[in-house]
Amino acid sequence: MHQYNIMELNKFLSINGEKFESLRRELHQFPEVAGAERNTASRINAFFTGLGGFERTTDVGGCGLWATLDSGNPGKHTVFRAELDALPIYDGSGKIWSSVVEGHGHQCGHDGHMAILCGLGAYLAVNPPVQGKVSFLFQPAEETGQGSTAMIDDPKFACLQPDCFIALHNIPGLKMGSIALKSSAICVASAGVEIHIKGRSSHAAEQEKGLNPWSTLKQIADYALTIPSEIEVEGQIAKVTLAGLHLGDKRFGTSPGHGRVWLTLRSTYTETLNQMISRLRSHTTELVLSTGCEFEFAIEDRFESVFNDAELTNQFTALAETAGFELTYLEAAFSWSEDFGQFSRIAPTFFFGLGSGLHQPPLHAPDYDFPDELIPVGIRALNLFIDQDHR
Ligand SMILES: [Zn+2]
Ligand SMILES: [Zn+2]
Repeated sequence: MHQYNIMELNKFLSINGEKFESLRRELHQFPEVAGAERNTASRINAFFTGLGGFERTTDVGGCGLWATLDSGNPGKHTVFRAELDALPIYDGSGKIWSSVVEGHGHQCGHDGHMAILCGLGAYLAVNPPVQGKVSFLFQPAEETGQGSTAMIDDPKFACLQPDCFIALHNIPGLKMGSIALKSSAICVASAGVEIHIKGRSSHAAEQEKGLNPWSTLKQIADYALTIPSEIEVEGQIAKVTLAGLHLGDKRFGTSPGHGRVWLTLRSTYTETLNQMISRLRSHTTELVLSTGCEFEFAIEDRFESVFNDAELTNQFTALAETAGFELTYLEAAFSWSEDFGQFSRIAPTFFFGLGSGLHQPPLHAPDYDFPDELIPVGIRALNLFIDQDHR
């Protein structure tokens, strides 16, 4: 039965809140980048072991893990997801809990997301669900877009059997504690494309005897930047960024024989992104064929769009409104990508933004630090799903 019991959670948070702050600061101090989150995963595993009652599954798709609390009664299986990884960015926050790892830092606030899930887990340990199951899933390698697929492809993942996946992301620039919502796509799909053109080098004095790929590279880059205007973009984002271009070396006697261009493509929907990639590929093929050069076309850093299930969105919107959260309805998806979209292959997904303050540095900035006061807010927001489906 639905039982909205905010008093009990508030009491729990006023007694235990500091524990989750210190956990967040500890995680912040020892950041581990994508694919190397071993100690962070152990720390999280130890936290849930300490709570008791959680069944844990570890080393899924690398350092990924989840902890499950089963009421023993039938019902929904809700999976909350956070990210284990930090960034190869210098932590210039200047806090006493600053990163002790040179050049690495939690500048995306994943330390805060982990603390929120741990806090809600601790609350459920003393106030267990009475229907269904609740899992807390920690994925590795979010920043590289590889962790969710690695977890899903791991044979252990078949045991999870979720009914939905829920995640949040802190949003600097949005009022502290307010919730940003959108149905359908909320984070764009993106892909990094590397095009390597292989021609033939020649003496700098005899350029005509070689195949210098410069003009082809330039034409590809120029064409790529026109793709958004060619695509129907009404109501959706379509962007191409020239991330880099490389030709030859510092050798004045040589006309270069190979070069590369790096492009980042983004779109609200995965289908549109695929359309953009295929246009780029076919135009590249056309351009390169007429020159006698060869080319390789590689897609890296691929993120699917994050898709909010309509029913979960409506349900959460109503719950958050009733609970008094300030809501911001997004007109367009966030223009960044998030490695959460893959989970919608398995079960319906819901992702929302949680404002971390109007005057915060942006995500991935060296001086960004997840504000501790957001931890209880995140716990209260996620607990709405517990009150709805597990009481
Ligand atoms: Zn990030
Ligand atoms: Zn992030």
